[in-house]
Amino acid sequence: MRAVTVVPGSTGSARLDDVAEPDAALGAVLVEALAVGVCGTDAEIAGGLYGWAPPGRERLVLGHESLGRVLDPGPSGFAVGDHVVGIVRRPCPSPCANCAVGEWDMCSSGGYSERGIKQVDGFMSDRWRIEPEYAVRVDRDLGIFGVLLEPTTVVVKAWEHIAAIGRRTFWDPSTVLVTGAGPIGLLAALIGVQQGADVHVLDRATSGPKPELVKALGATYHSDPIRELGLAPDIVVECTGVAPLIRASAEVAAPGAIICLTGVGGPIVPDASAPTTLLTDAVLKNFVLFGTVNANRRHYYRAAQVLARADRSWLERLITRRVGPEEFEQALERAPDDIKVVIEFARE
Ligand SMILES: [Zn+2]
Ligand SMILES: [Zn+2]
Repeated sequence: MRAVTVVPGSTGSARLDDVAEPDAALGAVLVEALAVGVCGTDAEIAGGLYGWAPPGRERLVLGHESLGRVLDPGPSGFAVGDHVVGIVRRPCPSPCANCAVGEWDMCSSGGYSERGIKQVDGFMSDRWRIEPEYAVRVDRDLGIFGVLLEPTTVVVKAWEHIAAIGRRTFWDPSTVLVTGAGPIGLLAALIGVQQGADVHVLDRATSGPKPELVKALGATYHSDPIRELGLAPDIVVECTGVAPLIRASAEVAAPGAIICLTGVGGPIVPDASAPTTLLTDAVLKNFVLFGTVNANRRHYYRAAQVLARADRSWLERLITRRVGPEEFEQALERAPDDIKVVIEFARE
């Protein structure tokens, strides 16, 4: 069968391979791949900057944003033809306290593994296997949009933690600022709107699909410098990883704000005074700045609800390109107007 594989740590090693059928040890449920979303993590792995092959192997099957159709459910309770998405992370073997209670997204030992990223094959192959307890059923009516479930889980977790932190004091947030209108930013804005907030999205783009997508949600799009927006957000969902932008969002944030960081890998800008002034602001404005990554089963359940409530034509515009497995290299390269690019393995 076909699979997109890489040698982690080695640049330019990605190729469309002919590999053996998935190992039964990966789980009792056999799934036919429909589509796999591509994100910055995949590009980093293909670029040799991140990722780990399975023990004793040189190559890793790439892909963690899955959507597939059950071919053989085994003893799982799924039916043949069900659409499923695979949970990415597996608990550490010890397990640590967090993994022991099913919150592997908060693994405190660092010994977790991840499909398509860390030590376990991913989902960019014609067929894949999964343990029943790590497969999540998605509504077949969602069609290819089910491939958006995994990125949505990341944002669902971010919003869950914002709400948890908000309970530290009396807090009545109304204004949300999302920085970066990529898939994570747009999905964060979608959830903000679903929760009834006044949502603003900031991105450099002045044309292309991003401004329209934000407007279509009923949110406000901005491309001016953050200090000129006249906003004092109670919640900032930061999706760029760009340090000066994070600094500036902390500057404009309302006292008591919660600033959630989801992006990494922004350019390094030397500014020796930035950390000190940021920390002073944090104290004097009582704000909380926290980071979030990954998701557990609860977030997959909620993410499915978020997608089910979303407008289908809006979701459709999030997927800006679909390519076949043979064109995987095109999927790993970002075009200016790309939001989410997916590799389509089979038609629904
Ligand atoms: Zn991803
Ligand atoms: Zn753990």
